[in-house]
Amino acid sequence: MTFTSRTAIRLADGRELIYFNEADASHRASFTDKRELPPPPPASQLRYDPLVDEWVAVAAHRQTRTFLPPSDACPLCPSTAAFSSEIPAPDYDVVVFENQFPSFSDRIKADEVTSLTDLVPVRPGIGRCEVVCFTSDHNSAFGALTPARVRTVVDALADRTAEMSTITGVAQVFPFENRGVEIGVTLHHPHGQIYAYPTVPPRTQAMLGAAARYRARTGGDLYTDTLAAEQKAGVRIVAANEHWTAYVPAAARWPYEVQLAPHRKVADIPALNDAERDAFGPLYLDVLRRFDALFGKPMPYISAWHQAVVGEGRDLGYLHLQLFSIRRAADKLKYLAGSESAMGAFVNDVVPEKAAETLRSL
Ligand SMILES: [Zn+2]
Repeated sequence: MTFTSRTAIRLADGRELIYFNEADASHRASFTDKRELPPPPPASQLRYDPLVDEWVAVAAHRQTRTFLPPSDACPLCPSTAAFSSEIPAPDYDVVVFENQFPSFSDRIKADEVTSLTDLVPVRPGIGRCEVVCFTSDHNSAFGALTPARVRTVVDALADRTAEMSTITGVAQVFPFENRGVEIGVTLHHPHGQIYAYPTVPPRTQAMLGAAARYRARTGGDLYTDTLAAEQKAGVRIVAANEHWTAYVPAAARWPYEVQLAPHRKVADIPALNDAERDAFGPLYLDVLRRFDALFGKPMPYISAWHQAVVGEGRDLGYLHLQLFSIRRAADKLKYLAGSESAMGAFVNDVVPEKAAETLRSL
């Protein structure tokens, strides 16, 4: 099953909001945003770091964003008579809207490239940041959704990936969910985000370089060969079904990290077929339940959809979901300290085969 209709409206400050409706819900479009909102914030800046050949976004306006509001003032709950939230309708299934405090935006003035020094060009933060609400239930969680709702979320992400990929200047579309205050969420309501980046992020750069070198050296495809090798080895597999395999990467960086890989190599979420989209939910929900069962309490996690880039290098990219937690024991979190933060060199305290064995046993 998939969403039956898609209704787009504009919020008071011009931002776009899209309802993905599972049943007929044309009434939602008739509710308008009655708030008085300030105009969009100024553009963020992208500053080039010549020492590591990377871009850094500087978005000072994000310091004022809402921080852990109570449920009767939640901007992601449906609006009520007493409180106007970001969502004007009194109910919704899945809803997506532009972030009020975006790191990147396509509604800003694209000023010309300037420079701080001869070595440091500065560009406007062109791109787009959207918020995805998975359910209108403030106290729910992604892991408590039905497989049918997960399918709606996947379809919404496919819709947004396809559309945001067409924005001039966008290099990669990245849907993700941060879950838990330990990760730094500022809103408890179950939601994810989508970043449309104007540059290819460092981790994607590294993956594209690795795939290109592997192809040059062996003539093979790195994604296909890695998945086949993990399926053959078996020891790091957590769960699988006809279309997806969930496994702990052999060189996992995080105490608990699982890769959800489609058996057919595809570029991005829009390229998943019906059967693959339907099969994703049951397996992912199974893995999330194992995560929550690990220490008998909700696991803080980051869930990250890696997709092929929009431009050069697209043929080397591939879709997979990276799920990982910073919790390494019931009362211990892994912090990114000296080696990880300063040098980018990870030290993992949990052996990946042991992590997979534990997750399988739950
Ligand atoms: Zn809420």
